Amino acid sequence: MQATRRHGDPSLRYDAQFRSFTIWDRADQSPGWTISHCPFCGEKLPDTLDELWWVEAEKFGFVDLGSDKKLLPAEMLTDEWWRKRGIK
Ligand SMILES: [Zn+2]
Repeated sequence: MQATRRHGDPSLRYDAQFRSFTIWDRADQSPGWTISHCPFCGEKLPDTLDELWWVEAEKFGFVDLGSDKKLLPAEMLTDEWWRKRGIK
């Protein structure tokens, strides 16, 4: 059977800033699916922090994707912000 690429060229990504695992479509550079469980053993992965990230980011005046990234401390662009706050 020939493999089809209906969804372009997917890749698995871990985004430390949001602590999220997603399957991206490399063809159009968009996240397709968030993965909530390990695809190998089925274990539940930690919850993603994207909603909480926005709550924190807004405190620095970063209100939408058009906002200047310079408003954010460097820690907000890595896993440092949630590790520092002890978020599990
Ligand atoms: Zn696993």
